[in-house]
Amino acid sequence: MNIEETIKCNFDKVREEIALAATNAGRRAEDVKLCAVSKFHQLESVLAAVKSKQFLFGENRVQEAWEKFTNPALANTNVDLHIIGTLQSNKVKKAVQIASCIQSVDRESILEEIEKQSSKINKNIKVFFEVHTGEDSKSGYTSEADLFLSAEKCAKGLFPHIQVAGLMTMAPFTKDEKLIHTSFEYLRNLKEKLNKSFDLPITELSMGMSGDYKIAIEEGSTIVRIGTALFGQRDYSK
Ligand SMILES: *Cc1c(COP(=O)(O)O)cnc(C)c1O
Repeated sequence: MNIEETIKCNFDKVREEIALAATNAGRRAEDVKLCAVSKFHQLESVLAAVKSKQFLFGENRVQEAWEKFTNPALANTNVDLHIIGTLQSNKVKKAVQIASCIQSVDRESILEEIEKQSSKINKNIKVFFEVHTGEDSKSGYTSEADLFLSAEKCAKGLFPHIQVAGLMTMAPFTKDEKLIHTSFEYLRNLKEKLNKSFDLPITELSMGMSGDYKIAIEEGSTIVRIGTALFGQRDYSK
């Protein structure tokens, strides 16, 4: 099979498994969105995905995303890009130009920068708060108090170009499924707490990757972020 056929096959399989996991959890398949994580993969893989009717993509690194997603081959394709990796503030300017959503907001200073840059181009942008729930790296809010402070400022209207739309997390990399459940359950409960505390449209739960998306769907995920199962192993040497 060529790359295009392989990727189409992978999309068919993953979509089927998402639908099955949703049904098994008593949920509707269309309530779980697939975000195709194309980091470290070439533009041709993205184009193959678009041919398989995939429009939502996630990228970690702004420069890499910029190079791929501003390519004229993707013009007029309705591609929708989410940034899912930790953002340095000097990358925000480009990030808000290419993305509709930044899923990896992990501190108040980055909210300020997103507001500043998106107001300059008069663009409204969605953000998710990334929450540290047990994964080995240190990304995401580690303090619930800090997270609530950020949410409060958003609810007060301090960042008029920003719409807080969801929460994101990564579960720990472990074979212990109980730990993975605990991580996703924590995020779901946190969303309920935020929904009770603030008048913010926090509806999305972005959780689940190639290795744990079925568990995430059981725990209420509305967006799974899948890379490897769709595009194959990443080649980090490049
Ligand atoms: C790379 C990455 C993914 C996708 O991981 P896979 O295991 O390849 O599916 C999802 N979310 C984030 C934040 C990532 O960095």
